[in-house]
Amino acid sequence: MIDFTEEQLMIRDATRRLATEKIAPRAAEIDETDEFPWDIVELYKEVGTLKLVLPEEYGGVGADTTTLCLVIEEIARVSASCSSIVFSTESLIHILLQAATQEQKDRFFPRLSEGDKISCFALTEPNAGSDANAISTNATLDGDYYVMNGRKTFISNAIVSDFYLVFSRIKGQKKKSEISVFVVEKGTPGFTMGKKENKMGLRGSPMADLIFEDAMVPKGNIVGAEGEGWKTLAQVANQMRLYGASSMALGISQGAFDYAIGYAKERYAFGKPIASLQAIQFMLADMYMANAAVRSILYQTAQMIDRQQGSVKEIGSLVSTSKCLASDTAVRVATDAVQVLGGYGYIKDYPVERMMRDAKAIQIFDGTNQIQRVVVARNLLGMK
Ligand SMILES: Cc1cc2nc3c(=O)[nH]c(=O)nc-3n(C[C@H](O)[C@H](O)[C@H](O)COP(=O)(O)OP(=O)(O)OC[C@H]3O[C@@H](n4cnc5c(N)ncnc54)[C@H](O)[C@@H]3O)c2cc1C
Repeated sequence: MIDFTEEQLMIRDATRRLATEKIAPRAAEIDETDEFPWDIVELYKEVGTLKLVLPEEYGGVGADTTTLCLVIEEIARVSASCSSIVFSTESLIHILLQAATQEQKDRFFPRLSEGDKISCFALTEPNAGSDANAISTNATLDGDYYVMNGRKTFISNAIVSDFYLVFSRIKGQKKKSEISVFVVEKGTPGFTMGKKENKMGLRGSPMADLIFEDAMVPKGNIVGAEGEGWKTLAQVANQMRLYGASSMALGISQGAFDYAIGYAKERYAFGKPIASLQAIQFMLADMYMANAAVRSILYQTAQMIDRQQGSVKEIGSLVSTSKCLASDTAVRVATDAVQVLGGYGYIKDYPVERMMRDAKAIQIFDGTNQIQRVVVARNLLGMK
């Protein structure tokens, strides 16, 4: 039994109400039009969803990993796209908390505390996805600026962001592992974007390439020391992967299950509800069991992180397990939910086909599930 605090439960319940009453009615339209939901950002601004991680002295809540997992799960239950806005923005705050100087915190946090600023995370390049060490975006220090050149690809919420967390090499640093991280702001000279991608799922979360052509990034926007980007990321990557990909997947899976069980009670075939058929009952039971297992491991891991328990390897394996299990489960449960609805499941008037498309993305982003298995296997076998 996971032991949530009163505050965590209060935030979860408030988010559930917001999601059910305000976000759910918009979810299908956001998916259909593929337009970014600025109205939902306004809602987030009213209740502070985009600054949960921000410390209280900067106007945030100082939320822990468990709280963020609960919030993202509840939003993803009705709209994974809307949950992705929270994930990418809280990630930037997390990285800044980890490695920013006091001057940077004083410069960025008041703007983030306005509650409507959006951020994105830019690591992947056309020739560097799973092999992130192969990135070739580079920056050269010239006076007060780093002159940045390169291209990032598949960047979620790119078109609408105010802040871009960009991973880049620095000229002169030769080691493959020497990568730095910068905050690049919207409107930086030399920074443009590619076309909006036409995605299978997570529609309404606009993805695009970031293009840097002699982009002038202020010297003061490097986060942490030159060449220490991996170190910074490693310190928060577990939390981010848990409240991001894993919780989003669990939310989708729970949403698909909730819809399927409600439908099964009301749909009649052969004179009785399909819920009375053993074939349907077993599918529902399997969906429930899979979600319960994911929830258990996810929140156990979140609490271990918050309580600073477990070795780095142990937490790394548990986080990779959660991400992989949660997204594989979400794909399976959402696909089964479509099956429970029969022909109606295949029609866009019902949410489960959207959930099935959204779930697929999570097997790919934030380290593919193949890579998560590599991480777990290496930790098990004591390999580097
Ligand atoms: C919806 C979505 C949102 C995204 N958002 C972002 C974002 O906001 N920011 C960002 O930086 N990136 C983002 N990405 C990019 C994502 O992180 C990459 O797509 C992912 O890391 C895989 O990289 P790749 O596409 O280059 O595939 P590749 O690395 O080319 O992999 C291709 C296939 O080979 C497998 N593979 C590769 N190496 C190994 C290995 N060593 N062992 C076993 N299998 C392997 C992979 O698992 C995969 O099946 C997003 C992607 C998607 C789909």
